[in-house]
Amino acid sequence: PFTLSARALSLKPSATVAVTSRALELRRAGVDVISLSVGEPDFDTPVHIRAAATAAIERGETRYTAVNGTADLREAISEKFRRENGLVYTPDAVTVTSGGKQALFNAFFALLSPGDEVLIPAPYWVSYPEMVALTGAVPVPVPTRKEAGFVLDPEVLEAHITPRTRMVVLNSPGNPTGAVFPPDVLQAVAASAQRHNLMIVTDEIYEHLVYDAEQVSIGRYAPDHTLTINGASKAYAMTGWRIGYAGGPRHVIQAMNAFQSQSTSNASSVSQAAALAALTQHEATNRFVAGAREAYRERRDMIVAGLRALGLPTPTPQGAFYVMADTTLIHPDELEAAGRILDEAKVAVVPGTDFGAPGQVRLSYATSLEKLHEVLRRLAPLPGSA
Ligand code: PLP
Repeated sequence: PFTLSARALSLKPSATVAVTSRALELRRAGVDVISLSVGEPDFDTPVHIRAAATAAIERGETRYTAVNGTADLREAISEKFRRENGLVYTPDAVTVTSGGKQALFNAFFALLSPGDEVLIPAPYWVSYPEMVALTGAVPVPVPTRKEAGFVLDPEVLEAHITPRTRMVVLNSPGNPTGAVFPPDVLQAVAASAQRHNLMIVTDEIYEHLVYDAEQVSIGRYAPDHTLTINGASKAYAMTGWRIGYAGGPRHVIQAMNAFQSQSTSNASSVSQAAALAALTQHEATNRFVAGAREAYRERRDMIVAGLRALGLPTPTPQGAFYVMADTTLIHPDELEAAGRILDEAKVAVVPGTDFGAPGQVRLSYATSLEKLHEVLRRLAPLPGSA
C-alpha cells in the first residue's frame, strides 16, 4: 500500500480505542453498556442560543466571514474576557476557531519550532502532547501528586525548565483530574514564565465548572506571556457547534490567523451567531450555566462518595466533570482494569494510560444521577469493591 507520511506515522494510536471499540461491539450485540467515557455535557444547547442560530440562517448569514471571526463576536469575546476574567484583549487580539482544539493547534504551530520543549503538567489531556509533537517540539510531562489534588507544584515545574523550554501548557480546571490551580500557584508559574521567557498557553475551557474553588485566569499575572484559550463547547453545551476562541499578544494571534487562513478559514458562520447569543444574552446564559454547575456538583458528590464506599480511592475534583478513580485493586494495570469494568460491569471508562495517569481510570459524570447510581450498583461486585 501507499506509504503514509512521517507525521501520520508518528501519531500515537490511542490506548482508549481498544476499550471504546469493545464498548461499541457490546452495544451492537444488544448489551446495555453505560458510557462514562465521553467529555460532553448531557444537556441540550439552551433555547436562546438555538434560536439565534435559526434567525441567522433566515437572515442569510450563511457565507464566509472574516477568517478570525465576525467583528460582533470578537467584540463580545473581548468584552467577556474583560468582564469574567479581568483580561484586556482588544477585538484584534482575539480570534475565533473551529473548537478549542483548533485554537490550540493554531497556537502550537504559531509558537513552536522543532526541538522546543513544552512543559505539560501530568495527568494531562491526551491531545496536548500529540499536537505538540506534531510540530516537532518535545512534550515534557511535569508530574503532579494525587495527594496534592493534582495541583502543580511551581518548584517542580521550575526544575523541569531547560535552555530549550519555550512553553508551559496549563489546563485549570483540568481534564482528566478536575484540579483547579489556586492563585498563588498561578502567580508563581507566571513569574517563572517571565523569568525564563516562556509562553503560557492556558486552556480555560472548563472555567465555569468549578465547585469549591476559585477560578483565576493566569493571563492577569503575565499578560505578555500568556495565550488564553476558551470555547463554547463545555460551558454552553455546544460541543457540536465547534466554536473556540483565543486571546493573546496581537502578533501571536495574527500568526494563528495566518495558519487558519491556509487551512479551515472561518468557523461556521451560523455557529458564530449562536456563540454571539451565548456571550451577550447574559441573563439566559448565566441561568443555564448556574443550573448545569449545580447539577454537576450534585453528581460529583454522589459518584465520589460512591466510588470511595466501594473501596476505590478517588480524590474530590474541584472542577470540570471528571473523576479519577484508583483501580489498582481491580487490576494493577489500568488498561486491564478498564477492560474488566467494561466486561463485568458493562460500564465504559477511560484508562489513564494516555493521560499519563497509571493505575487510574477516568469517569465522566456528565450524565444523569440515575445512571450514576446504576454504575455504582454494577461496580459493587468487582474485586476491591466493598
Ligand atoms: N480542552 C480540553 C481540556 C478538553 O477536554 C476539550 C474537549 O474534550 C477541548 C479542549 C476541546 O474542546 P472543543 O474543541 O470542543 O472546543
